[in-house]
Amino acid sequence: MRKLLMIPGPIEYESNVLNAMSIPTISHSSKEFVSIYKEALQNITSIFGSSTSEGLPFIISGSGTLGMEVATVNFISKDSKVLVVNTGYFGDRFVDLFSRFTDKVEQIKPPLGQAVEPVRIKEKLDTNEYDLMTVTHVDTSTGVRNNVKEIAEVSKKTDTLLVVDGVCSVGGENLDMKWGIDVAFTASQKALGAPPGLAVGVAEKRALNRMGKLKPNSFFSDLRKWEAVSRGVLESKGGYFGTPNVNLITALNVSLGNIMSEGLELRLKRHEKMASAIRAGIKGMGLELIAKKDHANTISAVYLPNGTDSKKFLSDTETNGVVFASGLMKEIAGRYFRIGHMGSISSSEVMITIGAIERALKLSGYEVDPGTGLAASQDSLLRFS
Ligand code: PMP
Repeated sequence: MRKLLMIPGPIEYESNVLNAMSIPTISHSSKEFVSIYKEALQNITSIFGSSTSEGLPFIISGSGTLGMEVATVNFISKDSKVLVVNTGYFGDRFVDLFSRFTDKVEQIKPPLGQAVEPVRIKEKLDTNEYDLMTVTHVDTSTGVRNNVKEIAEVSKKTDTLLVVDGVCSVGGENLDMKWGIDVAFTASQKALGAPPGLAVGVAEKRALNRMGKLKPNSFFSDLRKWEAVSRGVLESKGGYFGTPNVNLITALNVSLGNIMSEGLELRLKRHEKMASAIRAGIKGMGLELIAKKDHANTISAVYLPNGTDSKKFLSDTETNGVVFASGLMKEIAGRYFRIGHMGSISSSEVMITIGAIERALKLSGYEVDPGTGLAASQDSLLRFS
């Protein structure tokens, strides 16, 4: 039986992306590949809202965690003071990462399920001199979306570089480097719609100027090395530091082409529509979301009814043909599950998803009239304009 993968990455891929993975590998230094790589870098630049005259796009073999490293360690030294806006699991990961590079790490930690209030950031930046701060745009562990635009309004007036983890957002949520973001990154396997294995991002001039004043503190993550590659590829000359993942970059380029032909604005609207319908279905069944109000359009984290065995629930939904992800936040791990709804998500998949949740809840003994969640999702889809 074919199962529908509704986890927050890796996601379901379009068939032209999968087909691209089966093309025989060509030479990484061939003209043909350099032109694919160049197109991918250019499309990344526009999806991030940057421009190749201002920003430096990069595509590096590795996962989103490599993106976290490349996007931060190149802009700090061991004396740097950094601020982590910690809204969940991936905020903790930034703290862990920074602890290897500097002792001066501070955090802002809003209560579980809440985004940071930009005014709290202003208070922090008014009274401290941070070299760099990180924000997780959408925290995949909670489904909370931070208001990056308003945060950038604050940080761009200071010397604090703003680094945005867009792993669970870029391609599904509005993110624009022009807001005043200094560095942002994502990974191939989420809303960009390609298989896992690539860290993708853009660094703007202010960050690159900072990098120019610092000594490299890493090797594979040294953006100076990748800058030479990206610049060479953008000039159609090519470049080499580590062998690029030819097949993955080719597939990514097909997926970026899909995004460009749908149109970013329409794609974001579709994500909003599908996310609204998922949330309506969830609430229609009487369930509660972890995100109190700042909901992401790429993922929903949902509390299970009291007493539900989360392992049984996830196994029942899988038997019903849909795979969801378990909880990530330690303090509530067994009490919730996560639905990824990004990439090629359509209204049919929304209905399949809500239907599978309803049936699994029934099997767990939860009182819900079959069709209640589905009706709420249908209504939301029909009303969305
Ligand atoms: N940041 C966020 C917001 C993520 O969702 C993830 C992955 N779920 C990561 C970072 C790390 O990415 P990866 O697992 O690809 O290393």
